[in-house]
Amino acid sequence: MNGSTIFALASGAGRAGVAVFRLSGPDAGRALQMLSGRALPAPRRACRCLLRNVTGEPLDDGLVLWFPGPASFTGDDVVELHLHGGRAVAQGITDALVALGLRPAEPGEFSRRAFEAGKLDLTQAEAIADLVDADTAAQRRQALSQMGGALGRLYEDWRGRLLRAQAHVEAEIDFSDEDLPGGLGLAASRALQEVAAEISTHLADGGRGERLRDGLHVAIVGAPNVGKSSLLNCLAGRDVAIVSATAGTTRDVLEVHLDLGGYPVTLADTAGLRDTTEEIEREGVRRARLRADHADLRLVVFDGTCLPQLDPDSVAMIDDASLVVVNKVDCVVAGCPRAVGGQPVLGVSAATGAGVERLLAALQERAGAVLDGGGAPAVTRARHRAALQEAVTAIGRARVASLPELAAEDVRLAVRAIGRITGRVDVEDMLDLVFSEFCIGK
Ligand code: GDP
Repeated sequence: MNGSTIFALASGAGRAGVAVFRLSGPDAGRALQMLSGRALPAPRRACRCLLRNVTGEPLDDGLVLWFPGPASFTGDDVVELHLHGGRAVAQGITDALVALGLRPAEPGEFSRRAFEAGKLDLTQAEAIADLVDADTAAQRRQALSQMGGALGRLYEDWRGRLLRAQAHVEAEIDFSDEDLPGGLGLAASRALQEVAAEISTHLADGGRGERLRDGLHVAIVGAPNVGKSSLLNCLAGRDVAIVSATAGTTRDVLEVHLDLGGYPVTLADTAGLRDTTEEIEREGVRRARLRADHADLRLVVFDGTCLPQLDPDSVAMIDDASLVVVNKVDCVVAGCPRAVGGQPVLGVSAATGAGVERLLAALQERAGAVLDGGGAPAVTRARHRAALQEAVTAIGRARVASLPELAAEDVRLAVRAIGRITGRVDVEDMLDLVFSEFCIGK
């Protein structure tokens, strides 16, 4: 049980129909009794109460819930106050709780307490933060599955199998005599090989889970005046970029976030790719190229009114991670090519909206191909990826070790690396890092 009692407006700041305060710690029950002026209600039952501060002034008439520990989210005694979501109500309750000796919670402190009480592993705690941040249905599905323990179970399974292999290897050290060959026994060797192969397959997912959290990055590239900004506006359905007939207006990288059939897509408009002596525009072009290089997908846009001419710099950028777009089909006189750079051409008009639905569908299909893993859990954080990579490397060393003592040490390192992901081993140093990503009240 934690020493201090914390509280937070878990539903976030600002006006709302309902505001939820959460209290956790040994004084949570006493605070509820003081605010309500009556005995604690039955556990886990909503109860309507008038809440007052220490001077007896009414603060709000709302619902309260009492979750005695350890059967609560954090394992502490927990109270929830469901109140009217006005600023003065929130302020009055905050003042009253501080007057009763409670402390405002740090970001992620509730989830940290739940982790420390063994209610969640670290991947589940991280998934709570992801669920709160989820903007699209695919992000929500990934976070919910991870919160349900899908990722933790996968990693714990590998850790358990590695622990068994470690026991085999250590037994070899203890019982080996001159008759036994050096290196690993067959059972341990096979187990290590299988686990390493499974982890490697999991790692080779093209960064699907991390991209899903972050959004698929799509860069709109092309020569000046082909209609990139107009296309961005048209795709986003709102005005986000400056549309101008003067070349070089888009001097920085502008972004819009789209929800394409549940997949998060970040669309970036970039400065026209052209040689320029103007300093600010040159910087814009540099950023455009950088963004295009790092994008998951490029929309390479050509000006249909310039056909049959095609900007050679743009043609050079086309690869498998590109969608080729010919814009201004409303004014095209020459015939539109079927393919450029080996990729099919999508004809659109940012001005009339023609072809834009087809382009959005093509984008959504590409996003699905990258982000959809058919429900299999994916690596969702660089922290997990680094630890899994460390485990694979250590297993690789163990498998070729000349002595069982050396193999045992490497298997131990692999077990610890995976244990750090779920929080099974000394994780104190990383807890601050993990929970600082949270918002207050989670
Ligand atoms: P960017 O430099 O590539 O971002 O190009 P802009 O979006 O600023 O557009 C350049 C010019 O082309 C502007 O005058 C737009 O109105 C015009 N334009 C953009 N899209 C279309 C289109 O689909 N049809 C026609 N006719 N004009 C367009």
